[in-house]
Amino acid sequence: MPLLVWMPPNTPTRLIVAAVHGEEAMTAGLAHTLLRTIDAATSRAAIVAVANPDGLLGAMRQNARGVDLNRNWPTRDWSAAPSPTFWPTTTTRTDEHRTQLSSPGSAPGSEPEVQALVALISRLAPTEVIDLHAPLECVLALHPGTEALAAELADRAGLPMLHELDSPTPGDSGTWCAEQGIISVTYEIEAAPLPALWERHAAALTYAVTGSERSTL
Ligand SMILES: [Zn+2]
Repeated sequence: MPLLVWMPPNTPTRLIVAAVHGEEAMTAGLAHTLLRTIDAATSRAAIVAVANPDGLLGAMRQNARGVDLNRNWPTRDWSAAPSPTFWPTTTTRTDEHRTQLSSPGSAPGSEPEVQALVALISRLAPTEVIDLHAPLECVLALHPGTEALAAELADRAGLPMLHELDSPTPGDSGTWCAEQGIISVTYEIEAAPLPALWERHAAALTYAVTGSERSTL
């Protein structure tokens, strides 16, 4: 299934990506709501509302080949080891429940979805990438230089900002972006119905699309 990217009339400086993990369908719902709400003339972001359409249709984290796409980016730390995550029904997120093993792909960047996103980022050369995930309810600023954008988003949504995760994520998109000199934050929404999610996250996501570059003054 082809990936769609929604382009603003002007050259985008940001890229927003949702539903890289197909089990996180509400991120796609938010992206679609955003697309129906914003004035295209004021948008400065390209939006990929569903980066993993096969996974979304299957209500599964991985793509159709069973690969966790956020472990498949061609980073220096890519690992061939299966990636442990949680079964979709797991509500208690402790290490002992991290029993679902996903393939990171046969090689770095082996998956067509990742190849398409790498090509898109290379073509658009955005300064900032915002990757929507669920359900950790936080904004992740895992790499140097990402704190300011993460704070702009976290403040508007009342989310905590985290600087590290409790488990490694080799081959994730944020690491790849950091290696390219691109500011990338992971925006983790909570598990909630779409109307409640939109009420909470509309301001931050609207900023993500229309907000000016952060002031360096
Ligand atoms: Zn995710």
